[in-house]
Amino acid sequence: MHSRDHLCQTIRRIDGKGYKAYKELQGLYDFSPFVLSIDHVQGDPFALSSRVSVQIPSATAGFPQQLFSSKIRKVALADYLARNFDQAIDEITKGQRGTGKSGLFFIESGQQEVLERNCMDIRPEVVEARFLMGLPADGRRILGRHAEEMFFIELPTIVDQALLFENLTAESVQQYIEVIEDQEALREQLKEHSLVAFVGNGSTLPRRSGVDDRPLVESNAGPVIPFRSPPELEIELSQPNRGPIRGMGIPEGVILIVGGGFHGKSTLLRALERGVYNHIPGDGREWTVTIDSGVKIRAEDGRYVEKVDISPFINNLPYAKDTLSFSTENASGSTSQAAYIMEALEMGSKLLLIDEDTSATNFIIRDARMQALVEKKREPITPFVDKVRHLYEDHLVSTILVLGGSGDYLDHADQVILMDQYLPVVVTHQAKGVIEIFPTTRKAEGGTEFGGLPSRRPAARSFDARRGKRPVKIDVHGLKKILFGTTEVDLSALEQLVEIAQTRAIGEAIFCYADRYAQDVSLKEGLQKLMADLHEGGLDILSPYKVGNLAKPRIFELAFAINRMRSLKVQ
Ligand code: ADP
Ligand code: MG
Repeated sequence: MHSRDHLCQTIRRIDGKGYKAYKELQGLYDFSPFVLSIDHVQGDPFALSSRVSVQIPSATAGFPQQLFSSKIRKVALADYLARNFDQAIDEITKGQRGTGKSGLFFIESGQQEVLERNCMDIRPEVVEARFLMGLPADGRRILGRHAEEMFFIELPTIVDQALLFENLTAESVQQYIEVIEDQEALREQLKEHSLVAFVGNGSTLPRRSGVDDRPLVESNAGPVIPFRSPPELEIELSQPNRGPIRGMGIPEGVILIVGGGFHGKSTLLRALERGVYNHIPGDGREWTVTIDSGVKIRAEDGRYVEKVDISPFINNLPYAKDTLSFSTENASGSTSQAAYIMEALEMGSKLLLIDEDTSATNFIIRDARMQALVEKKREPITPFVDKVRHLYEDHLVSTILVLGGSGDYLDHADQVILMDQYLPVVVTHQAKGVIEIFPTTRKAEGGTEFGGLPSRRPAARSFDARRGKRPVKIDVHGLKKILFGTTEVDLSALEQLVEIAQTRAIGEAIFCYADRYAQDVSLKEGLQKLMADLHEGGLDILSPYKVGNLAKPRIFELAFAINRMRSLKVQ
């Protein structure tokens, strides 16, 4: 390990030289009480910034043991510290100084969801923060004075402010951890109450905009209506830290969310989609939880499908195309939605979340008149309405469905929730009345059972990460696109993917999966093994380098990314 002075002397020596000379800085430096580790220096000021980390001995950082005494507490504390570090960057650093990313610090600290992330690593002996620094340059010439400022003034101040327990507000850390722990506890209680989701009274579900996931705030545009459970579905759950909480319990089965346009149906569904994750205090969805295996399904025409059994929904395609093992380079709305469902079931999902708005109409419904005009033997599609009940009865897979237009589902619903001016009203009883007055004239076309669930074995050769001269090259382009070798993977239909750090982790995880987990087992078994190792070893098992830019994805999004790789071949 070098001394602090050594770093200072090196920076002065390379001042004014070409940017590449910064490479000399790589190494460890004693910045007592912390260790500075310059892990990887970038070759130019416009490229991704350089990877840097700091390690503080736990004794110095001073976090009481109880703040990280369980897995969930550790995740919550790390998430808190990452956000705190990010805030310290904002407050302390001067921002851009020089060309490109010169002068900037960056930590991958997340948005509304609390995820396991590797930018902050709490180990028994040390707390480590991993971040990026844009080493300053004017054009391509090193600006040593600014670099000195970053390393010797800004960084130690950030570390001091963000990573020492004595400089944090103890109540705020404690509260953060408790809120996260409570959400985890709420989610764990769902099963014993036969619920698939819970929305606490007082929750704020709407978001500021389609591109801003923070809670909507009251404005001239109108009030924000806090959530309130209808009496019929109200239930009390307990929280280890903040005591009992009342709210709407959504039971297992077939649940419809109906109501007029713009009354808050999709807003409720989206909150339920996100309820598979924990949220930061103040998000408004801290008491909205959904079972872990809830999956949002949507239509996605044009997608790739490789050997998926979609026969519960699609049969007798023209020219006898196989639907027990259906493949296509270019799925239609209905076949894409059928494949998405079957792939979710393959991975063990117990809850499908579907919005009529983003579904293929002919997948959702086929009404009596259309049945009369187009005979069943000429229609390959068995609409979801004929399978939704079997899905629950045969496989205990529940569905929450947002509907504005398809009344044929009323026959199959366990509960019907009407959204009226953003508030839920139970209309299950009225729906039964409607069924009696207007009995359906459509014929059930779904047979007597749902059918089997798929299980496939991807071939390891499907995953070629080579690009040009590089044996492994995996990039992410925004939240919803991975470039794996030369294979572009479009994730735009994965609505529960929330952070680019998850997308990155998925890219890396696909490589690990192909390398170590894909041999001779099903997709589900292989990925379960990988996720178990991830749980044990943390996100660092995914990357050969020390990086701080990964957040934990769910097994579902990982599988769904693999399913969308056009190079995927199933044995
Ligand atoms: P629907 O799916 O029923 O057509 P949306 O869920 O898209 O309706 O909601 C319509 C609009 O109302 C959205 O702009 C949304 O942000 C807003 N909104 C939803 N719930 C609330 C609420 N509780 N308070 C205030 N505005 C809301
Ligand atoms: Mg809607």
